[in-house]
Amino acid sequence: MEYAVHHVRRPSMTRDLPYGPQDLLWVANTATLLVAESDAVLVDTYVTVEQNQQLIDWVRSFGRRLTHVYVTHGHGDHFFGLGQIAEAFPGVRAVATEATAAAAEVQAGPDMVSSFWERLFPGQIPAQLTPPQPLADDHLDLEGQRLEIVETGFSDTAGSTVVWVPDLRLIVGGDVVYNDTHPYQSESTAATRQEWAATLDRLRERDPAAVVAGHKNPAQPDDPRILADTAAYLREFAELDARTATAEELYAAMLERHPRRLNPGSLWGAAKQAKQVP
Ligand SMILES: [Zn+2]
Repeated sequence: MEYAVHHVRRPSMTRDLPYGPQDLLWVANTATLLVAESDAVLVDTYVTVEQNQQLIDWVRSFGRRLTHVYVTHGHGDHFFGLGQIAEAFPGVRAVATEATAAAAEVQAGPDMVSSFWERLFPGQIPAQLTPPQPLADDHLDLEGQRLEIVETGFSDTAGSTVVWVPDLRLIVGGDVVYNDTHPYQSESTAATRQEWAATLDRLRERDPAAVVAGHKNPAQPDDPRILADTAAYLREFAELDARTATAEELYAAMLERHPRRLNPGSLWGAAKQAKQVP
């Protein structure tokens, strides 16, 4: 078995930041293809029609039968491509855990789409949004190799997961781990931040050879050290949150320590959320 990683760039979700490095106001999404002799399994899709078409063309270039798309968590930027994928690869099954499938139903609902996704990506969201189906098993099978679904609790959202591929000692991390990118923390609390960091410590115990983050700086390798990096970032955020009074102070203190991470808009969103600024 082999794996391959694809990425697309898109503008940040939070675009009203007070100041910061203008050249970093973007984020990359990744999708990972697990490739066996004749079959393949895709982990996650993208948000816009055009991005998902790029993904489809890339998957096609491997010349394998796509059996499953696994969705790591319920955020739209990871599953809005499922309808296009189903059309492009007849017979493919789109699956996720029960929690992710339920969260995806909400994200794909008319309220979330018109109030959030369409505002950020006007005219670019697929017309037909198909949430994944709940998977009864805790693993997928790719030509006899196990792809294990690991439930990780609250990461950047509730009921997150990663895929552990023992054969490759690979973690396909979804949004449980970030690579050189400010994590999305707008759904986080002090308690969930701790839970998230503890999950990352546990994932390190598997001693992976590679870790693919759902959002990465494409210039960076899929180095396992991003597990420790993300945990340290979250703990630093918690510590600085306790030592600062305003969103501006927290933002400035974190940015000083992480001046070149992608997507500072995400940090600004996190700082506002932590200080309860509307
Ligand atoms: Zn994401």
